[in-house]
Amino acid sequence: MVETGSMDHPSELPDALAAARARYADERAKRIRPEGNAQYSGLEGRFAEFDTDPYVEPGFTREPVVEETLALIVGGGFAGMLTAIELTRYGIRDFRIVEKAGDFGGTWYWNRYPGCMCDVESYTYLPLLEETGYMPTEKYASAPEIFSYCQLLGRHFDLYPNALFQTEIADAVWDQDDGRWLITTTRNDQIRAKFFVTAGGILHKAKLPGIPGIETFAGEAFHTSRWDYGYTGGSPTSPMDGLADKRVGIVGTGATAIQAVPKLAASAKELFVFQRTPSAVGVRNNGPTDEEWFKSLKPGWQEERLVNFTKAVTGVKPEVDLVADGWTEVMWENTQRPTDSDEERLELELSDFETMEKLRRRVDEIIEDPATAESLKPWYGKHCKRVAFHDDYLPAFNRPNVHLVDTQGRGIEAITPNGAVFDGTEYELDCLVFASGFEVTTDLDHRLGFDPAGRDGVRLSQRWHDGAHSLHGILSAEFPNMMMLGIVQAGFGTNFVHFLSKSAAHVGWLINECEQREIATIEADPPAEEDWLMVLYGVAGGIADYSLTCTPGYYNSEGSRGPKAARNLVYAGSLLDYSGYLERWREDGSMPGTVVSH
Ligand code: NDP
Repeated sequence: MVETGSMDHPSELPDALAAARARYADERAKRIRPEGNAQYSGLEGRFAEFDTDPYVEPGFTREPVVEETLALIVGGGFAGMLTAIELTRYGIRDFRIVEKAGDFGGTWYWNRYPGCMCDVESYTYLPLLEETGYMPTEKYASAPEIFSYCQLLGRHFDLYPNALFQTEIADAVWDQDDGRWLITTTRNDQIRAKFFVTAGGILHKAKLPGIPGIETFAGEAFHTSRWDYGYTGGSPTSPMDGLADKRVGIVGTGATAIQAVPKLAASAKELFVFQRTPSAVGVRNNGPTDEEWFKSLKPGWQEERLVNFTKAVTGVKPEVDLVADGWTEVMWENTQRPTDSDEERLELELSDFETMEKLRRRVDEIIEDPATAESLKPWYGKHCKRVAFHDDYLPAFNRPNVHLVDTQGRGIEAITPNGAVFDGTEYELDCLVFASGFEVTTDLDHRLGFDPAGRDGVRLSQRWHDGAHSLHGILSAEFPNMMMLGIVQAGFGTNFVHFLSKSAAHVGWLINECEQREIATIEADPPAEEDWLMVLYGVAGGIADYSLTCTPGYYNSEGSRGPKAARNLVYAGSLLDYSGYLERWREDGSMPGTVVSH
């Protein structure tokens, strides 16, 4: 509760809220870096291996594929798989999935760090449970379980014969005369496809902190998405016995670190957690699935639960909260929604403050050392960074072998051959783990790893030099028959797979409809792209102001408000509203805002 000040006159700011406002501004100012995304370094030199696949046998070769297909899908994560599954529902089996990894799974293929799991409830996160008949073992599924579920989906929907694994796109060029995409790969494949679907994922290109000297570290170093069990010993499910005599450092305290730190704490001789901005960490409360309950669920239960959860975390409080977890408790109200009423704005701010106070109090309740507790408290609003949920993260800091190095928003100053330096102290380390996240808001062509060439050879990076231009984030002018599944100018969601299922349904519909109507090409009409941008701006109104109070991170393009970031926004309203746009557009039937040719 806010204990000071008075709310009899809402225009008066309660003292505690005024203090929090000042503290939020202070914490933001400490962290804003003019270089934005450029503060991170790429995967070069000794770190180039963070972009390769350690999970496959080296030396794989195969004959190049030369073929024509209806649709080529880039990416075999949930986005690509769900798109392929949608196509099969229309009876379309003439498609290819090109995937860099050795199997399906996307993020769940790559991320095998200890403790890795999904913080969104498995009964809503894992798609198509009713069709596959699969019962998740726990309310929050572990990464190995999710990865094997992806494999199960691949088998269930017979997607494996369509997949080319360990293969990357070299180039994708639209051939105007032929009305086809010509796609070449790193395995010398030459595939002609009428439709080209990019489902390359949003959390796959690891980024490293651009700390001076990072290349010079003489010990073991790896990114969380390429965990080196050869060095640490153990596995995603067993203790890392190789760390018993090691001093380990971990850089970053985002959602990944929250899950990895308790496991490292239990295995390492000493663990140093280098924190720039603390995460807000709520209660997890995981447990095994109640088999009787699961069996009692009536047909249609998953769609009902999905909608219920998405409502509950986007400010539309459902009568019954079916998921009833930390997410729905923290996100029950959308406190960044636009409003013209000062009174309502203040009420929303107060509600946000109360939620964050509760999360800050949780730190005090768990952490024994008061100085460590102060350092672990998040001083920003609840929509600024992804809230984390874990029951073992905070208690790990009560262990004598775990040391929080609070860098006061500045980050590590330097890395030396021996370890990491902050505030004049060199922390000697044997092993340095980068939990520094992924590129989310860099240019799409950079994240895809190739730069598609559309009509007249125009590259995506050229057409999007000032930011994205799209209809619904899916179609773009000058890129005929190219369909994108991603977050740029599209929806988003706490349950990301729910969002992907909506995009995949749209792309599947588009491809089938084009075939049914004998449409040769479809692309966005440039004026419609601007109209869509206005829709995005309309929803983003209050959010832009809110994000100005936030510490930087990928949610707000590292605090940047440049023109490019202004176009590369996501649909900031509810996922259900975004998917409503798509549904109404399909129902219209005339494909408004597109240019088609026959
Ligand atoms: P994040 O981008 O969320 O976190 C990166 C961390 O590295 C931040 O704490 C950041 O600090 C820190 N950092 C960056 N540079 C430095 C530096 N120079 N010195 C010190 N610290 C630094 O990456 P994550 O991998 O944790 O998570 C990425 C996303 O993956 C999540 O937001 C979530 O969407 C997804 N995810 C989902 C999970 C799930 O359960 N569903 C689990 C794990 C991840 P700062 O905050 O100051 O920038």
